[in-house]
Amino acid sequence: MITPRPDLALLTGYHSAQVSVAVRLNTNEAPESPPRGFADALAAEMATLEWHRYPDRSYTALRTAIAAYHGVDPAQVFAANGSNEVLQTLCLAYGGPGRSVAVFEPTYALHSHIARITSTEVAIGERTTEFALDLGEVARVTREAQPAITFLCSPNNPTGMVEDEATVRAVLREVPGVLVVDEAYGQFAPWSALALVEEDVPLVVTRTYSKTWSMAAARLGYLIGPRSLVRQLDQVALPYHLDAVKQVAGRLALDYRDAMEARTATLVAERAAMVERLTDLPVTVWPSAANFVLFRPEARPGDAVWQSLLDQSVLVRNCSSWPRLDGCLRVTIGTPVENDAFIAALEVALR
Ligand SMILES: *Cc1c(COP(=O)(O)O)cnc(C)c1O
Repeated sequence: MITPRPDLALLTGYHSAQVSVAVRLNTNEAPESPPRGFADALAAEMATLEWHRYPDRSYTALRTAIAAYHGVDPAQVFAANGSNEVLQTLCLAYGGPGRSVAVFEPTYALHSHIARITSTEVAIGERTTEFALDLGEVARVTREAQPAITFLCSPNNPTGMVEDEATVRAVLREVPGVLVVDEAYGQFAPWSALALVEEDVPLVVTRTYSKTWSMAAARLGYLIGPRSLVRQLDQVALPYHLDAVKQVAGRLALDYRDAMEARTATLVAERAAMVERLTDLPVTVWPSAANFVLFRPEARPGDAVWQSLLDQSVLVRNCSSWPRLDGCLRVTIGTPVENDAFIAALEVALR
């Protein structure tokens, strides 16, 4: 039998448990579907879709809507099937054999996973024990590895910490290639690196519909960056990679900006309440600028607490065996009812 590429043997997949539970707080999705009007508008447009034709290869209407949302030029927008595919396209274009990416751990596991799948070396830098970026370490890694791509995740998954503007500017001065700021949780944070995107600056900012826009099911993400870079990514993407349904759904979703901003504000308020309640329990909790919170039970092993939560039909992310995250769990902010259920179950689990 044919065997896969030998370098793939080193990889294990990235999976979140998909089990049926009453309270699912493990993948940082939005707690509700998009507003009702969205589903109706989408159904109406589907009735006139030309199913026998290939979709608009340049997804012009979607691109224009995303650009208008951010106040940029459509030529600065590249979209794909989830921001993970945006990251993969970046690795295909700028990584590959003989090239490397830099990541600073702990961070989003998919950055190094996608790099390796595209045969790109991964240079790993360490964060401080408090999960902060260490600019000396950034300088060391970029000097030694000369990475084609440097990944930052802000707010960082799974820690929730946000990089401030001075830090992103400092990293930008350091990197020899392109700096990718993954802002999957950007709407929950106090500032965005989007403000730093310019034509002759090697910076792209990635966003997703999976979290704020309540559209994880649609698989749609994008980046904002220099036009020259977007043109290169357009050449790497497969023809017609964005299907017609997704192009319509992504465009219509942006009509509900006010509703989604209100939901984001609610989640940010719920996050503050969650952190406060966790602070009263025997756990270490890290401040978060995202729609999730990282915490570590102090009196019982993280694994045992995770299992006890699951036994009570509450699913959170078990990071307890991940490198540098010994004993940690990550909980997504859900509806007030879900958050109450989580805290009640956690009180039992910590006993
Ligand atoms: C959830 C998440 C994504 C989103 O990926 P999609 O492919 O758009 O669903 C990207 N980056 C980070 C850091 C995430 O946590």
